[in-house]
Amino acid sequence: MRDMNLGLLCRYADKCPLYKGSDKKQDMPLHILRNVFCNRGMKGWKNCIRFHKFRQEDKIKNSPDFARLR
Ligand code: SF4
Repeated sequence: MRDMNLGLLCRYADKCPLYKGSDKKQDMPLHILRNVFCNRGMKGWKNCIRFHKFRQEDKIKNSPDFARLR
């Protein structure tokens, strides 16, 4: 499991369309986006809206209420 420390890759990189470069709305060059946000640890992740959305989804999926709905 990836840690939340500085200089580490975002834990959501494997499923993130921005990191993979498959989000066509992205106007920043991929290598810059990765350096500024993805490979920068919490310092970069905290400024990424997508990161916060993924975290929110994780919280919902791991909540007891969500488990009851399945
Ligand atoms: S930091 Fe943001 S853009 Fe980069 S992989 Fe994580 S969620 Fe995706």
